Amino acid sequence: MSITAPASFDTISYPFDDRPERGTLREVAPGVFWLAMPMSGSLAFINLYLLEDQDGWWIIDTGLANKETSEVWQQVFDNALGGKPVVGVICTHMHPDHIGQAKDITDRFRCPLYMTQGEYFQARAFSNGGGNSRSGWIGEQFYTQAGMPTDYLEQLAKMWESRSSEGMSMPTMVQGYERLQDGQILRIGGTDWQIVVGAGHSPEHACLYSAALKVLISGDQILPIITSNVSVHPTEPNANPLKQWMESHDHFLEVIPSDTFVLPAHNLPFFGVRPRLRDLINHHEDRMLAIEEACVEPQIAKDLLPVLFARKLDSRQMMMALGEAIAHVHLLMHRNRLQREEAADGVFRFRSVDPSLTRRAHPDNHEAPDEQPTYV
Ligand SMILES: [Zn+2]
Repeated sequence: MSITAPASFDTISYPFDDRPERGTLREVAPGVFWLAMPMSGSLAFINLYLLEDQDGWWIIDTGLANKETSEVWQQVFDNALGGKPVVGVICTHMHPDHIGQAKDITDRFRCPLYMTQGEYFQARAFSNGGGNSRSGWIGEQFYTQAGMPTDYLEQLAKMWESRSSEGMSMPTMVQGYERLQDGQILRIGGTDWQIVVGAGHSPEHACLYSAALKVLISGDQILPIITSNVSVHPTEPNANPLKQWMESHDHFLEVIPSDTFVLPAHNLPFFGVRPRLRDLINHHEDRMLAIEEACVEPQIAKDLLPVLFARKLDSRQMMMALGEAIAHVHLLMHRNRLQREEAADGVFRFRSVDPSLTRRAHPDNHEAPDEQPTYV
């Protein structure tokens, strides 16, 4: 089984124009199978991957913790695994669409869960309500500093209630795990899979790369269409996740060759990993330049949202967009291009301070893209 590679890797191309049918596996490289799990909203589905080993199966990412996903898994276990058990579950990162079924599957097969340390312990912290910093003074201070209205925390509480009914809440986590680290090799079905770690979208995101198969299972670290959410949250109000995100793109440009077939968690499998990484770098550099230009007159974080997103945002999208705006601002502060000033009302204002701005700026050249923030 092999996919015909395109003539050029300079643009993005998709060997498949549809996803596999519900509950069925499609082989996309020797011993590598694609399974699509349903999700609500604009994402529509998450791609999971199964690797066939001599005595069983490895599952990479697990889908949401809801009944529909459990039913599809039951269908897969009954019909698609050829009587072999699951011997390992790997979660690329701690978001609910990736870890949702990890406990059920590892309990059922009594097999280990593999994650990086950063992802595993953040998942443990946020499951069972343990990590909610949106209520209380820390969340209140964070949104006040960003210039949000005083009832914004109440709006958020309502939003999270509706989100949990969609299966997007954190599931109960597996009680123990096996640690993945950057550079580590897992040998599965006679193939070496190298762990390549990125960060920014989540703390310590694991991807799996096989040089022999020329395949990268990229999770949410590299998606062909969606720009993954990179946000500052109240849990770490001075975090600089966009710096990590940009450094990760450099790391992947170093490690992953141009002819690699990428199996992402959303959208469709694709060729063109290097142009996609460069697009993502350019996208964020361009947004940062637009923010600097806007901040010639001091701005509050809330008023920077239209610089990043041209569309009108509902309260849920606004939370994601605000986290992203602050992430861009923090990297600009780190680069000494923005200065943060705290006014008597507790609101932060950001001012451009780089004397080279007028030379670098090209205000007509970077309209905010017509997209919405995504939840992956
Ligand atoms: Zn994610």
